[in-house]
Amino acid sequence: MGTIEDPTAPPVVLVFAGHDPTGGAGIQADIETLAAQGCHAAPVVTALTVQDTRDVRAFHPVDPRIMAAQAEAVLGDMPVRAIKIGMLGSVEVAKRIAGLLRHHAGIPVVLDPVLRAGGGGELASRELSEVIVAELMGSVLLATPNGPEARQLVPEAETLADCADRLLAAGADSVLITGTHEAGELITHRLWTADGGRIDFHSPRLAGEYHGSGCTLASAIAAGVAQGKPLEQAVGDAQAFTLRSLEHGFHAGGGQRIPNRFFWGQWPR
Ligand code: PLP
Repeated sequence: MGTIEDPTAPPVVLVFAGHDPTGGAGIQADIETLAAQGCHAAPVVTALTVQDTRDVRAFHPVDPRIMAAQAEAVLGDMPVRAIKIGMLGSVEVAKRIAGLLRHHAGIPVVLDPVLRAGGGGELASRELSEVIVAELMGSVLLATPNGPEARQLVPEAETLADCADRLLAAGADSVLITGTHEAGELITHRLWTADGGRIDFHSPRLAGEYHGSGCTLASAIAAGVAQGKPLEQAVGDAQAFTLRSLEHGFHAGGGQRIPNRFFWGQWPR
């Protein structure tokens, strides 16, 4: 960790994520969310994707050695207050990040296990799902799968509660299963903690589809954690921020809407 501390500097969040050229999801979503929440993002790209606002066409993981060297450069220079992980892209990248987290234990980690794009396109193999559970869960403060991702991570689980239990058993300190994909007028995100706690967070279901909503929520939680908020408060505040971003979402392309993470700022129209 770096030795110089500037008291005026915003908390630094190291981000591992895929690049989405629409700017709606992936690393741009994370950078925008963290900046909007008063943090400084240190972004490390894990994969390049080819996609539009409708769906993903292809993805290409980066060289795991370059990715790891970038992360080490940041960790050696900056006081990283939280780490946020999104799309991993390959088993090799996931394993390198798992090694880095074991070396830098003590920094809180928020892991959004990105397995599919909003349009349904696959972003992770079966083997990568297994590595996420076996090698990354043990280092995370919070994992934020949506329902389908939770089922894909632990296919042997029978219910979402069972999924959460198995992810906790794999080592996660806490698990937030997001409820966007479950039926109902309200969306309920459910937080499970290792001490047996269970907390529900509700929000209204908005019409339409959004590109990058999961990235926004997980990054906003990481921002709150980096600022020292207790986890429950970080999740509640992040859900409120994500809802406002979605309410102000816009059609940049012909498919899903993109959240406006600067809804509170100037927007020339
Ligand atoms: N990361 C990348 C690079 C993506 O392309 C996507 C979806 O397309 C995601 C993350 C997840 O997006 P969402 O926040 O909509 O789940």
